[in-house]
Amino acid sequence: MTSAPSTPRLSEQFEAIRQSLPPTVTLVAVTKFLPGETIRAAYAAGVRHFGESRVQEAIAKQAELADLTDLTWHLIGHLQTNKARKAVEHFHWIHSVDSLKLAQRLNQIAQELDRRPQCCLQVKLVPDPSKHGIDASELSDLLPQFDQLTQLHIRGLMTIPPQGASADTLQAVFKGAATLAATINQQGFNHLHIDQLSMGMSGDYMDAIACGATMIRLGTVLFGPRPT
Ligand SMILES: *Cc1c(COP(=O)(O)O)cnc(C)c1O
Repeated sequence: MTSAPSTPRLSEQFEAIRQSLPPTVTLVAVTKFLPGETIRAAYAAGVRHFGESRVQEAIAKQAELADLTDLTWHLIGHLQTNKARKAVEHFHWIHSVDSLKLAQRLNQIAQELDRRPQCCLQVKLVPDPSKHGIDASELSDLLPQFDQLTQLHIRGLMTIPPQGASADTLQAVFKGAATLAATINQQGFNHLHIDQLSMGMSGDYMDAIACGATMIRLGTVLFGPRPT
């Protein structure tokens, strides 16, 4: 294996960030638009969790990296229903469950494939027309239906603050997600129990952790600007 030129920088960055994280926080390295060799370099630096936003792009990289057998793949981008089958086949985690309809389809496919993917419900704590996600105000009515989807292990909330959010809005979003998780758990559903908060990206992960994030999704801060 030849090491990519970015390896030394990546491993220093990764080490510095990892040392700053509480042990309860999982770092998901976001490698969308980045080549398989970057994933290899991150793997060599100790990263095992990888986040991709597109199903097809991830499948191509997974094929290239088939020799790395202990990776955990996270789908973090919007998922169209017609790609649900591939998503269940190729990802351990789906962070972007943003509608009941999608969840029902995933549940049906997971039954057919005898899988039990780990899922986060993507929620919007403040209005944001540019993002997918279930409005927090609409979620409570849907919870009994999500609770019935027992072939999915729905165990997280995922949220993305609006672009350019103020410090106050960041706090409102991250604290809001933590409060929402607690509220869901108090209702004592049979299956639905939230023990993961997927929140925090390069620009705001410290705030997210302060509010209880358990999974942070970092791209730029690890790998530099993405190719466009
Ligand atoms: C691209 C992306 C990230 C990573 O963003 P950075 O700012 O580069 O850390 C995290 N989460 C989601 C959902 C993304 O699409």
